[in-house]
Amino acid sequence: MNFNVLVILFGSQTKAQEILLLLHDVKDVVRQGFYDEELLLVEQFCQEQHLFFVKSKFKVLLADDSDYSNKGLRIPLEDSRKGMFFVYFSKNEEKALLASYYELTENHQQLGLLLGYPNCCVAYFLQTFTPQNTDLELPPTNHYTNLSQRHQDAVLLSHFPCRSDCPASITLAQQYLKVLQEAEPGRADELLKRLCV
Ligand SMILES: [Zn+2]
Repeated sequence: MNFNVLVILFGSQTKAQEILLLLHDVKDVVRQGFYDEELLLVEQFCQEQHLFFVKSKFKVLLADDSDYSNKGLRIPLEDSRKGMFFVYFSKNEEKALLASYYELTENHQQLGLLLGYPNCCVAYFLQTFTPQNTDLELPPTNHYTNLSQRHQDAVLLSHFPCRSDCPASITLAQQYLKVLQEAEPGRADELLKRLCV
């Protein structure tokens, strides 16, 4: 799989990276937001790669471009405003469907666990995230959990770590970086350069 093709299809380096990690079995389920016109090529790609693709039964008017939180206003499909769909990708159909179900029913705990986030970080999200407090980013202390460049398309994790030195988050990021170093060394080098503190 050519990484640059993935970047064009999915719309960013970070999204392409998550799909690569899914294809390499270090992620079970990936959730990303797309506008309607982006979905045709993404869906074709999923068919070719035997990935299950489940689209949310609602749209979201996002307050920012982050997939980290559920920040944003949920609107029905028939609403004419231009909202984003959440799409759940997995090699396992049940997991893709479950993720969409957990999101629909706002079961953030089960959704977070299914997306592979550590227990401690899911608990942190549940305790800390409110409509008034949507950005749970902490000051970076290491490149593994550094979220400071995520809006500039450079990040390893897709969740808010409970601490910058959360061991479970660092272990996950190390796994992701190892796969990237083997499959896409250019991207791995770029991430190291931009995320090291
Ligand atoms: Zn944690």
